[in-house]
Amino acid sequence: MGREISDQWYGRAQKVIPGGVNSPVRAFKSVGSTPLFIERAQGSHLYDVDGNEYIDYIGSFGPLILGHSHPQVVEAIAQAAAKGTSYGAPCAAEVELAEMICDAFPAIDKIRMVNSGTEATMSAIRLARAYTGRDLMIKFEGCYHGHADSFLIQAGSGLLTAGHPSSPGVTAAVAEQTIVCRYNDIESVKAAFEQYPHDIAAVIVEPIPANMGLILPIPDFLEELRAITRRFGALLIFDEVITGFRLIYGGYQTISGIEPDLTTLGKVIGGGLPVGAYGGRFDIMSKVAPEGPVYQAGTLSGNPLAMAAGIATLKILQDRDYYDRIEVLTQLLVGRLKTLCEERLNFFAFNEYGSMFTMFCTDEYVWDYQSVMSSDTKIYARFHQEMLQEGVYLPPSQFEVCFISAAHDLIDVERTLQAAKRVMDRW
Ligand SMILES: *Cc1c(COP(=O)(O)O)cnc(C)c1O
Repeated sequence: MGREISDQWYGRAQKVIPGGVNSPVRAFKSVGSTPLFIERAQGSHLYDVDGNEYIDYIGSFGPLILGHSHPQVVEAIAQAAAKGTSYGAPCAAEVELAEMICDAFPAIDKIRMVNSGTEATMSAIRLARAYTGRDLMIKFEGCYHGHADSFLIQAGSGLLTAGHPSSPGVTAAVAEQTIVCRYNDIESVKAAFEQYPHDIAAVIVEPIPANMGLILPIPDFLEELRAITRRFGALLIFDEVITGFRLIYGGYQTISGIEPDLTTLGKVIGGGLPVGAYGGRFDIMSKVAPEGPVYQAGTLSGNPLAMAAGIATLKILQDRDYYDRIEVLTQLLVGRLKTLCEERLNFFAFNEYGSMFTMFCTDEYVWDYQSVMSSDTKIYARFHQEMLQEGVYLPPSQFEVCFISAAHDLIDVERTLQAAKRVMDRW
């Protein structure tokens, strides 16, 4: 597969954009390669500037549950654009999308639109601190909540020591206000609350972590998080930026019945345009300006094009057959990949849920951050590169999940399996 034109663009890009990309994982560094420049995308397929075609398993890292360029979404955006791209004043579409989300999430009474998942989580934490009058926050190792300072924190040397910045430029003072606990380890959370019973404003968690590869909650973990936050007067924030409308028309909270105090959303609700949102109980959300004193604003928030794309996407997803169909296709693909691996290269561990899955290059059972880290990223890099050569575009990192969309079909599954077979036969 030729890549001369991609390489030319990458050369130009590196001169004017840090690392040549506008979001680090796109640079293919963690798979030891360089990025392809995409010219267009349709359904389940990406086409690069050299004219190569790929079956896409990233779906823009989550938003594109309907696949690329869904005709109804494209039409909705075009119609909205013809009426103006931004007003700096309220419009009906903002209310419609807010109503649809509030209807789908019993725990969301009111919602505020922002422009990214990062903005949503950053604002939710500010609100939680304001509401509780407390400063500290708990997050989990391996969970991702966007790139605001408070979340770019890694565990300190021991449990309950202050967190450390995971990026230069994040101050030690900010890091000290974030406690990093272990996902699926309720004891680590209990210990934090025992140490700081009156100081923790919120626990933020991806109910199904999908940013260290896919991890599933062990029985009772999320229920116990709900109970312990209530007991200590802290808020529970479900970061459903990925899981919102990805698994069901609603969130993982809809499936589990566990109601968080605040929820953050993004990705699917924007239908491929830049949208995030945070919402929750009346009494908490009424603290947000201008109803309350907690400041948060956005020049392009509730943008009419983005709202139109989100509404069009959710309307299609109201036909629940969509979720069933994608899930069945995912089970088929993962099931057959598993069989293939058992026959040939028995070092992949699979996690799957709904339309998401991860092939971990390890023979351990993967259920927490530590077992995730047992993955051999060099093997993943090789598998990624060889699959790409075969026309299958997997996530360019072992720690990003594969997404299936409603546009994927049996032919994609068959072609992917044949590609995997050829790759594994060469090993
Ligand atoms: C992607 C993601 C974010 C950040 O959203 P951006 O739109 O990239 O800023 C936050 N939380 C989770 C769980 C995510 O997957």
